[in-house]
Amino acid sequence: MSYHCVVCAKQVPDTKNVTGEAMKEDGTVNRSALPAIFNPEDLHALETALQIRDAHGGSVTVITMGPPTACEILRESLYRGADRGVLVTDRRAAASDTLATSYILACAVRKCAPDIVLCGRQAIDGDTAQVGPQMAEKLDVPLITYVEQWLGIDDKTARARRNVGNGWEVVSCTLPVLVTVNESANTPRPRSAKRMMKYKKARSRGEVEALAKGLLEGDFDNYTAELQAAEVEKYCTALSEKGLLLEQWTLDDIDADLSWCGMSGSPTKVHRIQSVVLSGGQYRQFPATQDGVSELVGELVSEHTIG
Ligand SMILES: Cc1cc2nc3c(=O)[nH]c(=O)nc-3n(C[C@H](O)[C@H](O)[C@H](O)COP(=O)(O)OP(=O)(O)OC[C@H]3O[C@@H](n4cnc5c(N)ncnc54)[C@H](O)[C@@H]3O)c2cc1C
Repeated sequence: MSYHCVVCAKQVPDTKNVTGEAMKEDGTVNRSALPAIFNPEDLHALETALQIRDAHGGSVTVITMGPPTACEILRESLYRGADRGVLVTDRRAAASDTLATSYILACAVRKCAPDIVLCGRQAIDGDTAQVGPQMAEKLDVPLITYVEQWLGIDDKTARARRNVGNGWEVVSCTLPVLVTVNESANTPRPRSAKRMMKYKKARSRGEVEALAKGLLEGDFDNYTAELQAAEVEKYCTALSEKGLLLEQWTLDDIDADLSWCGMSGSPTKVHRIQSVVLSGGQYRQFPATQDGVSELVGELVSEHTIG
């Protein structure tokens, strides 16, 4: 039996390689100072999906929600072996919190009707680890979180070993299922040189439009909006014929209810963002003894941190 896997992958700022001031003065993230990368744990989700396809047949679709630049990780997925890449992009999705993000992704996943949905455990920018579990609820499928080893599928039953903090447990459930994958689950395969040659020119319609706009800028006398649209159409058709047009879906394409998307679908409100930098004087070490622990607890209670 073969399986259709959908991997949700996010493009994130590389918080480990800061090339300028990481935070702006207003306390928000300065994305231009941080190179964009494939969310690390999503690579492990992709590898799990590729291993499932290699063992049983089927296909691997990668979905990312973000601006057209997020197509970079769709190409990366194709280089590593994915069969299909889909960009979900729409201005009306801006300012989505995790609830709205998981709703939009769930709509896109539903359109693919997969047997197995794979997410990374957590994104390194938002860091909430909420999107996978929220999607499982919206899709009404069982959820296996913190997968550290994929144990296989027997017909319609999947088995996985999940990390439970101080140990592990083996769980099984019937398909369809959503799993969130830890970085300890596997070693992602490298890009294939052959696939890089094949897919390096793969582009989404949004990328083609941006390219056309850049090329035609300053030459508006000769290139009208109609001509520009015709050029875009011609290029997209050529890409499509070669199997190099990355699919691009709007909220309409996935039948999303707009009241659940973007600002209106996001109950989270950020009131204040603060950088907390601990200075040396605020740091105290307690000995790992009965007295040390008593002293620590006493101090936490007296400062109303606990109790
Ligand atoms: C009030 C508010 C406003 C926000 N406004 C914006 C905004 O305007 N623009 C913006 O970019 N962000 C915005 N965000 C951040 C956005 O909500 C999160 O980036 C997003 O919901 C994912 O949450 P996370 O990063 O914690 O992912 P996690 O829950 O940690 O991610 C878990 C897994 O879910 C999957 N996943 C998560 N996000 C995506 C995605 N986009 N595509 C595919 N797979 C994914 C991945 O597999 C990932 O490993 C806002 C957040 C809040 C609270």
